[in-house]
Amino acid sequence: MITFYPGPSKVYSQIGDYMQDAFKSGILSVNHRSPECVEMVRNTINLLHKKLDIPADYSVYFISSATEAWEIIAQSLVKENSFHVYNGAFGKKWFEYTQKLIPGAKGYAFGLNENLANLSAEIRSAGSEAEVICITQNETSNGTQVLVNRQKIAQNQESLIAVDATSSMAGITFDWTQGDIWFTSVQKCLGLPAGAGIMICSPKALKKAEETGENKHYNSLLFIHENFAKFQTHYTPNVLNIYLLNRVLEEIQEISYISDKIRKQADDWYSFFENSSFKTSLLVENNTVRSDTVIAVKGDEELIKTIKNQSKTAGITLGNGYGDWKNNTFRIANFPAIDLLEIEKLKNTLVQILG
Ligand SMILES: *Cc1c(COP(=O)(O)O)cnc(C)c1O
Repeated sequence: MITFYPGPSKVYSQIGDYMQDAFKSGILSVNHRSPECVEMVRNTINLLHKKLDIPADYSVYFISSATEAWEIIAQSLVKENSFHVYNGAFGKKWFEYTQKLIPGAKGYAFGLNENLANLSAEIRSAGSEAEVICITQNETSNGTQVLVNRQKIAQNQESLIAVDATSSMAGITFDWTQGDIWFTSVQKCLGLPAGAGIMICSPKALKKAEETGENKHYNSLLFIHENFAKFQTHYTPNVLNIYLLNRVLEEIQEISYISDKIRKQADDWYSFFENSSFKTSLLVENNTVRSDTVIAVKGDEELIKTIKNQSKTAGITLGNGYGDWKNNTFRIANFPAIDLLEIEKLKNTLVQILG
């Protein structure tokens, strides 16, 4: 079965062998504070810095999921007000989860086809009080993305910028300096089994964590940081996933190379649909806000059902629509672990179904 689901998504084909290697190496039974484990964590963090081009002064932490990052930010970096700018289901959920912890959290919803750059003045003024401004770089639910730009979002120099990059990190390049907290889960662009997350913090974010001084939770940011200063974790981590992450990072190209490839593949996907005579349309009409890593295609409910079923018969799983777009869209992951032959096969299958 070939899968284009945007998370959990196709794992790298080498994962089966790596899992065997992990078992044979004995690392799965090793204490997480032992020298072997500490060395693996240290090495994996180094590889993340190197392969993803993360600034040396940004700290990298292993957590359980992207959802946990939402909570860590609300607990440890916000005292009274965060500001959530969103246009889809994940950004909205982040806002709603935060509101439970921070009643003063504010939201700003923008339209599917609106470009954040054009809303800059409004957003800057609406979020001028915010301690943290929260944006979803790639909205997995509807296939849009935003360019993270500190000046365009934040009026107040003190505001931190938190970026949910769950379905784009390790797929495309970022200017990391435009954000203070970045996070992802490993089951999207990293092509790993689900069950681990990565959180990256700027020195400015750490300074704010110190000011806030929040230390009430096992996953309070200061406590996480103390542990990672020794390349240890604040709980017994998913050692298998760290091992797999390590092996995948050793294997993959640097992010600039991956990003060029992913962006070109995305262009190809969009022209494939635009130049077709299919009775489908691209969900996102404004081509300046279309995602590079998740392509959303719209059509009649019946047609969408047919496309998904017939693709399944051909051995291909498409991503279901999500939230508001559950029944009238399908999604195609454009993640690095998916290879060209699989993409060709899906294109041929779509031509057969729709041509
Ligand atoms: C998948 C996803 C999440 C949630 O990831 P979990 O691993 O389930 O916590 C959050 N935000 C975005 C944008 C996502 O795509």
